[in-house]
Amino acid sequence: MEIKIKRTQETACPSLILRKQAVKEGQNVEGLIVEGLIVEGLIVPVLSFPALSATGIVEHGFSTRIGGVSTGVYSTLNFSVPRGDAPENVAENFRRIGAALGTDPEHMVLSHQIHKANVLRVDEKDAGKGTVRELTWDDADGLVTNTPGLTLVTFFADCVPVMFVDPVHRAIGSCHSGWRGTVLRISRNVLLKMKEEFGTAPSDVYCAIGPSICRSCYEISDEVADEFRKEFPGHEHELLFDVHGGHAHLDLWEACRLTLLEAGVPAEHISVTDICTACNPDLLFSHRAAKGQHGLFCGFIRLL
Ligand SMILES: [Zn+2]
Repeated sequence: MEIKIKRTQETACPSLILRKQAVKEGQNVEGLIVEGLIVEGLIVPVLSFPALSATGIVEHGFSTRIGGVSTGVYSTLNFSVPRGDAPENVAENFRRIGAALGTDPEHMVLSHQIHKANVLRVDEKDAGKGTVRELTWDDADGLVTNTPGLTLVTFFADCVPVMFVDPVHRAIGSCHSGWRGTVLRISRNVLLKMKEEFGTAPSDVYCAIGPSICRSCYEISDEVADEFRKEFPGHEHELLFDVHGGHAHLDLWEACRLTLLEAGVPAEHISVTDICTACNPDLLFSHRAAKGQHGLFCGFIRLL
């Protein structure tokens, strides 16, 4: 098996590495850094940020499309039931990624993403919600916790994942920042929630802007461009490109980075993906590349 990743050259920040978390003994995948466990002969690669791993207090990663049991447009490691996949396949996929990351579905907590900017604190009483128990919320694009062993799970297929680690107060966060959530500054809301709940100072926090659509692939409507002109005044030349005939391309990664900087996160604490979902449709689910027919991959993060 060979995985070729097309990397975007625009970002100078520390890039993602692809870890072969669960591998069959003797198998080697070109370009992967092998660390972690051999679990039941499964190959479940995980993308992770060296800077978050270096905090030493979290296990984290983004799933790819590789290593699951789903078929067709969901192949193979899809985590969304509402998009039409069989629940038993999704359940097995959660078990596999859990094994790759050293945990299980019983210790995961799922977001419920509606393109808004609500952030929810979760703890041990929420373990398994969305995987083995009913979700008890319907409006949570962001999750925060200071409970060790609890894995926060958020869903993606082009929208931007943002992860947060506060090594001082030992707290973490994860959110879904599509264009609507970015205009609403959900990343700032995560930092505010972490401050309110755990005393987090943004200057202590390490952030990662995860695999999602790059600006070359992300053509937007006039209306969306206007929203960004209005909400990020003075930054339109950093965010909007190739404006011709009314159709601009949007740099969501930079919009998220700006939001973090404005909120007080130091530039050297922010890692930005160099892997675009739409440029890598065989590696990651992409709404644009699949024209709407697709599964979802996830970001996973837990305090050790
Ligand atoms: Zn792209």
